[in-house]
Amino acid sequence: MIGLVDANNFYVSCERVFQPHLEGKAVGVMSNNDGCVIARSAEMKAMDIPMGTPAFKLEGLRQRGEIHLLSSNYELYGDMSARLAQLLRDACPDIAPYSIDEMFVYLEGMSEHQCQALGDRLRRDIQRCLGLPVCIGLAPTHTLAKLANHAAKKQPHYQGVCLLAGNDASTTALLKQTPVSEVWGVGRRLAERLAINGIHSALDLRECDKKQLRKRFSVVLARTALELRGTSCLTMNAVDQPRQRIMTSRSFGQPTGVKTQVHEALRRHAQRSATKLREQHSLARSVMLFLKTNRHRRDQPQYFPHTLVALPTPSDDTRVVLDAVRQGLEQIYRPGYRFMKAGVMLLDLVDAQQHQLSLLDAPARHHPRLMATVDAINQRMGQDTIRFGMTDDEAPWQLRCAHRSKRYTTRWDELLEVGTHPGAIADARARRQQSQP
Ligand SMILES: [Mg+2]
Repeated sequence: MIGLVDANNFYVSCERVFQPHLEGKAVGVMSNNDGCVIARSAEMKAMDIPMGTPAFKLEGLRQRGEIHLLSSNYELYGDMSARLAQLLRDACPDIAPYSIDEMFVYLEGMSEHQCQALGDRLRRDIQRCLGLPVCIGLAPTHTLAKLANHAAKKQPHYQGVCLLAGNDASTTALLKQTPVSEVWGVGRRLAERLAINGIHSALDLRECDKKQLRKRFSVVLARTALELRGTSCLTMNAVDQPRQRIMTSRSFGQPTGVKTQVHEALRRHAQRSATKLREQHSLARSVMLFLKTNRHRRDQPQYFPHTLVALPTPSDDTRVVLDAVRQGLEQIYRPGYRFMKAGVMLLDLVDAQQHQLSLLDAPARHHPRLMATVDAINQRMGQDTIRFGMTDDEAPWQLRCAHRSKRYTTRWDELLEVGTHPGAIADARARRQQSQP
């Protein structure tokens, strides 16, 4: 069985863990520079405030206290995501992050009943240990697990965990209700073409002749139909959904712990991802990277870090992505481990044509020769000899994030403070400042 664990309204849920007063309120998280809404709580969705709404249009609602708008706090989200991955890995060692808040878990040799019980337990543990609400879909294939997860989210009677056996009446009933456009890897345009051919629901697709699908559409779609029948044949990379995330990852030919080699692999993936991004005319707002050691080598130390780096402005520039990768690697690399896999994922994508640069956004520049020259100099003279812009966190031109919450889980000086009396917190803070050299 394959499980898909997906956090509900992830960015907002991370904020609520440390600001419980936001529970039940309409909450939105804004893009870099507080430009537009990129994540919404269920309450905000119910107010019909669409994704991408510019923040200034919501100023009235915010001032009247009807909605809460927060700057994005990627450091917090990235760390919560890493904690989620760790918790899952403790329960079932084989997991694969699919995005910042979606992780596949691979359950071998377990009965349906055991899988269901594990799903229920994981959901409770994640709520208890991390404070994050999640839904879990369980099924024999990635494609069905995706649909099971969707059902777990939308249909309350599943209580957050939906298991689809793959070949029984309840799976068939669910596939019948599901529009084909909601099937993993079927984009809007493909759905339109399928509709012309009389394929409207996921069930229609499942019942299609595989050879016909391969001939008239693609090998990937033929495999998707097989997956709907319960035969696992898709890898995660094969069905990256356009315009949501772009992932490039690969196992190394030989495991390596040498930082420059790991970096080199990540650089290659970053360049490939940026190319794909430009192919589909999107811009990314953030870059996620991950490393993996070989979990089957029990004799070797294990480490499975991942991190998320926000881009200063949405971009499709390879150099910008490379820079994010470099920063991310600095955060997660530790010597003494032999890594066997690395990956780069581009997240929070926006349509390049529709994206309007705000006045504060520096326009992306295209100087391919400049980049090659800089790389050559950095290689000869050492990393960071030349870099694009300064990296002072406190510089005034840094990202605007007036409403960012604290980075509770990654900064000592931003820890959550608890006290019984308002004065007690101030006293403790003063004492701590005095004791610092
Ligand atoms: Mg989610």
